[in-house]
Amino acid sequence: MKRVYNFSAGPSMLPLSVLQKAADEMLCYGESGMSVMEMSHRSKHYDVIIKEAEALLREIMNIPVNYKVLFLQGGASTQFAAVPMNLMTKNGKADYILSGQFSTKAYKQAQKYGDVVVAASSKDDNFSKIPETTRESFRPDADYVHICFNNTIYGTKYNYIPDTGDIPLVADMSSCIISEPVDVSKFGLIYAGAQKNMAPAGLTLVIVREDLIGSCMDITPEMLNYKLMADADSMYNTPPCYCIYIAKLVYEWIKELGGLEEMKKLNEKKAALLYDYLDSQDYYIAPVSKESRSMMNVTFVTGNEELDKKFPAEAAKAGLENLKGHRSVGGMRASIYNAMPYEGVEALVEFMKKFAAENPKA
Ligand SMILES: *Cc1c(COP(=O)(O)O)cnc(C)c1O
Repeated sequence: MKRVYNFSAGPSMLPLSVLQKAADEMLCYGESGMSVMEMSHRSKHYDVIIKEAEALLREIMNIPVNYKVLFLQGGASTQFAAVPMNLMTKNGKADYILSGQFSTKAYKQAQKYGDVVVAASSKDDNFSKIPETTRESFRPDADYVHICFNNTIYGTKYNYIPDTGDIPLVADMSSCIISEPVDVSKFGLIYAGAQKNMAPAGLTLVIVREDLIGSCMDITPEMLNYKLMADADSMYNTPPCYCIYIAKLVYEWIKELGGLEEMKKLNEKKAALLYDYLDSQDYYIAPVSKESRSMMNVTFVTGNEELDKKFPAEAAKAGLENLKGHRSVGGMRASIYNAMPYEGVEALVEFMKKFAAENPKA
């Protein structure tokens, strides 16, 4: 068996030890005599799994007791509609910061449900940085402010938490969840598709302050109603059982590693290796403003279309997969989530040096 270094933006790498544990338990989980995939979600064994998953996540993220943790389906994209349906119900208004494609999609969906405006945008800078905001950027009667904390496609991330005063802050953290500590109490709601940094595709995490749920719009489908989901402990219907089980193994892995402080140190070290190299030469260009650089998704270009095409193809031959940038941006993108080992980034930098030496620009 030969495993590659997989730089995919999502679904993406999972820690090897997690995959091994899942493989060990594949045919028979504990004393159950069956696979977790085959188990009733109402069974004794599964009850322990989902409760442990929630307890571990609460522990590693230090989630305050007045927040609900929901394990849902539908991907982050479903939350683009669920958030306004559940939260835009006091004044029917919400303010969005546009920092890339996903926040723009979220904004467009929310427009169907109320009075939604753009509070700030970095579109004119090709989303190469995070917009700056002050409290005055937001309407005082907005029901919430929505941001995308890490922009997977462009490779940018907030290096500050916008000051929204009393207005609840909602953050899409799909591509940076559990990569470093965050102060959950600064947010009204955090959501994330699991397939970037947490588990296989199929699970969506929502962490929401209790006082924000319970007054959704009448048109809200039951499956998108946070109150129903919270009251049923994410078991209103069949939850994504196996994904939650893998998420639990990932949370255990982080805890054993020393928690999110330690995870952050490892991620910083990986990102620094790549950015320091990018800053030390002029063959590759990193298009993102330095102060907005993502620790998870690193974008770069050669400035030459042919070479941008050749790079990911050659890299794949060297065991470095999925380095092609998003189709809307071009160039290259290395997603270096929690599960990417330091050695993978070292191998990438070595390959970049070799490629630059072997492919001089005309
Ligand atoms: C991938 C991604 C999404 C879309 O997630 P789905 O689970 O595919 O709906 C939304 N927001 C961000 C920041 C992402 O990285």
